[in-house]
Amino acid sequence: MIEKIDILGVTYAISLVPAISREKYTIGQCDYANQSIDLDMAPPPDLMGATLFHEVLHAVLEGVGEDCVNSDEGSVQRIARGLYQALKPYVDFSGKEKRLTAKR
Ligand SMILES: [Zn+2]
Repeated sequence: MIEKIDILGVTYAISLVPAISREKYTIGQCDYANQSIDLDMAPPPDLMGATLFHEVLHAVLEGVGEDCVNSDEGSVQRIARGLYQALKPYVDFSGKEKRLTAKR
């Protein structure tokens, strides 16, 4: 699993944790102040990947000052899911990047 990611020049540590919140069914969390992204380790890889995109998008929106979009969970989820679906074939979450190849 990738361990850190640079978002707009700020390095966020990515951690797999046993549980974030079972009450609120929270499976991901982005902490701007501590530059950390926590992912619940229980969900299957696909959901964990989609959650990583969701939390990274929060950090990007925070970084560019898009507070309005950032506070709208529905928008963040829709955009993140679209990005995840589009990029999923090219990145696996063990940290090894798959190279983009132009189809001839
Ligand atoms: Zn969110």
